[in-house]
Amino acid sequence: EALNKILDIKGSIRVFCRVRPILLTDRRRIHQPISTELEKIVVRSGGSRKEFSFDKVFPQEASQEDVFVEVEPILRSALDGHNVCILAYGQTGTGKTFTMDGTNDQLGIAPRALVQLFHNASLDKSSSYTFSMSMLEVYMGSLRDLLAPKSFSRAYETISRCNLNIQTDPKGLVEIEGLSEVPISDFTKASWWYTKGRRVRSTSWTNVNEASSRSHCLTRITIFRRGVASEAKAEVSKLWMVDLGGSERLLKTGATGQTLDEGRAINLSLSALGDVIAALRRKRGHVPYRNSKLTQILKDSLGDGSKILMLVHVSPFEEDIGETTYSLSFAKRAR
Ligand code: ADP
Ligand code: MG
Repeated sequence: EALNKILDIKGSIRVFCRVRPILLTDRRRIHQPISTELEKIVVRSGGSRKEFSFDKVFPQEASQEDVFVEVEPILRSALDGHNVCILAYGQTGTGKTFTMDGTNDQLGIAPRALVQLFHNASLDKSSSYTFSMSMLEVYMGSLRDLLAPKSFSRAYETISRCNLNIQTDPKGLVEIEGLSEVPISDFTKASWWYTKGRRVRSTSWTNVNEASSRSHCLTRITIFRRGVASEAKAEVSKLWMVDLGGSERLLKTGATGQTLDEGRAINLSLSALGDVIAALRRKRGHVPYRNSKLTQILKDSLGDGSKILMLVHVSPFEEDIGETTYSLSFAKRAR
């Protein structure tokens, strides 16, 4: 049984890599330093050649559908009672939000996942399900409720009122005090709340591109499952969909002051996340959840019995080769 447990933990972490395509609007020189092979990324720079392996590699031409097909089995385990974390990692501009949310005609993981959850729940005649949603942003160690009534979430001026506490109950379950949790009875409702939360996040910043890249946005779908037999007890599981802050290191850009602090906060929390996943991967010893708000929030969904999917995004451009190598090395630790 112990062996099974070990195998299960090993099998519960998946790392995928997606390479952003070159877009028509890109004016940058097209000289690609990376190539994709079967589940491998090869980086050539100077005279050197480095290989990075993944559970799955999505080349530039991969569609949203191609990605979702690989994500779907993990969503099923959320309905089966596992906690699930889907995390989009990468340098700003490499397609994290595109993968998670997508566009109106190229839907990303989140809207597709919501469709699937309701669909699969309706097919399961032996259980009845109810769902709720919460969404929060983590910015420089502060938490903000993105589905709170308007007056609370409009601006960061009010952040002290929104700075929620993270508690762990005796069973080890994480509780975020005061975080809004809205019931979602069908896809239309779920999609409405999701869009609303994402809009609150982006419109409350004066410089949208800059600031939203320095925060993490976490969406939690809580799934309550009850067997139709009257003696069956309810089960609760969580599905997290996380659009992480940009992984770029800000030293080279000559960032100062606030920008530098924001960058440091993101880098610290991302490395804390990397440390947790690497510890889980080693399958024993201490797992350092306490080093960041991000890992504290996700604690009960990163570990025993939970499924983790890390989607690492990289740029197709030569000039980003440093960040690309950094992201690929981050991913290697998790794998
Ligand atoms: P990030 O969230 O990592 O900063 P975005 O998701 O905002 O990056 O992507 C940057 C730009 O590239 C956006 O305009 C997005 O629509 C586009 N983009 C990213 N990935 C793809 C893709 N696979 N196919 C088409 N466009 C993409
Ligand atoms: Mg983004």
